[in-house]
Amino acid sequence: MNNSVAPILGVRFSTRSFQETVADLVKRIESGQMTHVVTANPEIVMIAREQEKLRTILERAYVVPDGIGIVYAAKWLHQPIHERITGIELLEALMEQANERKWKVYMLGASPESNRSASERLAERYPQAQIVGARDGYFRAEDEPEIVREITSLQPDLLFVAMGAPRQEEWISKYRDQLQVPLVMGVGGSFDVIGGRVKRAPVFWQKLHLEWFYRLLKQPSRWRRQLAIPLFVLTVWREKLKI
Ligand code: UDP
Repeated sequence: MNNSVAPILGVRFSTRSFQETVADLVKRIESGQMTHVVTANPEIVMIAREQEKLRTILERAYVVPDGIGIVYAAKWLHQPIHERITGIELLEALMEQANERKWKVYMLGASPESNRSASERLAERYPQAQIVGARDGYFRAEDEPEIVREITSLQPDLLFVAMGAPRQEEWISKYRDQLQVPLVMGVGGSFDVIGGRVKRAPVFWQKLHLEWFYRLLKQPSRWRRQLAIPLFVLTVWREKLKI
């Protein structure tokens, strides 16, 4: 991605709005350009600061601002990012396009039950999109060549990988050149939400930008991961004040 980007703590984010992003991705898919979309939240930015491997992956990817934390950080750092783009919303918008254009879709990741129910739900909601393959995300390393072969032979237009960040980003980056899929995107826990296994925060919480807090209440084991949020805020302020 070489234009319309703004750096936040060393990660170059797309500055496009949600609608512009969808239009841009459609254009890329139609021209056969290979794109790896990463919806990056504060946690990912903080991991990238520690891990060169993830930094390199993000440099080659199309990174969109996932979460209000990134939008606020952009405001504080005077960067032109105004809208958050969550993985699940982008997935749904791309499925709408897939429905209109009869694209082929492959769903990789989550538990077998979650993968199945998410695939069924999406097939019902977007009947013209063709879900050509689906497979859970709990496989052994030695199964990977076969999985890659299967995906390549089915030639999907979209590949969603729901294995949690940054594991999914590493997996996509390892195989992106072999896969030959125009658009590959990591979607974290989205299959669990779409399949009905995990509830997304009610709109009330979403509107207050407290979705992260709702998730923390529902899955207290996430607290360790969510420590990245205050640390991120602190780091942004240090960057802003140059201290
Ligand atoms: N997962 C997977 N394979 C693994 C580990 C996790 O497919 O080896 C799936 C897991 O079932 C869940 C998703 O990855 O559906 C991770 O969800 P989480 O909410 O933790 O991801 P986030 O959105 O925070 O990146």
